[in-house]
Amino acid sequence: MVEQKDKIIFPEDAPVEYREDIKGWVYDGHYYGKDERAARWAGSTHSRCVACGEAAVKCYTLCPCCSEKRHKDRYAKMPSRRLTQADEMVYSHTHDEWIPTEDIDEYCELHGCSEKDLMLETTKPVMWSDVIFNSIEDVCRQDWPEDVEPPADIEKAFDELTKVVNACRDHPAWWTHGGESVEPLDEDD
Ligand SMILES: [Zn+2]
Repeated sequence: MVEQKDKIIFPEDAPVEYREDIKGWVYDGHYYGKDERAARWAGSTHSRCVACGEAAVKCYTLCPCCSEKRHKDRYAKMPSRRLTQADEMVYSHTHDEWIPTEDIDEYCELHGCSEKDLMLETTKPVMWSDVIFNSIEDVCRQDWPEDVEPPADIEKAFDELTKVVNACRDHPAWWTHGGESVEPLDEDD
């Protein structure tokens, strides 16, 4: 590679050439045939943002600024509501983190920001009862001939494990996006 690391080369500036003798596009010794676009793509370090024309990371259609703006626009269009007691977890769009609702104030203090800065979104819990099976034994038995009975020790272990699993059923396994923006409690904060 001849170019310097930090230099921005757009596809239209890529050092490619069309060679008449071999009837095709060449970049850095590689032949791209009639595919000028592929040659320029290979010879570029960045692409152009489709919204503003500034440099975008290769493979991305938007530059960091436009990408952030689009993210904010989408967030602004979400329905908005206040958090209630039932909201155990929120998601921060600016920090890309899941934050327990009771820790929001502490999180803000730690990061020197306001609740508004976090661009919080409500979340929905996915319960263990949604993702685990009714009985471990049922799952194992699927592959057994019907008349096979496990030894008593294994039977007992199945029961115990099922009991442990069942005790977790009402707990959230993880969280997914709720699709609503969180209205900060204090707008002036
Ligand atoms: Zn842009």
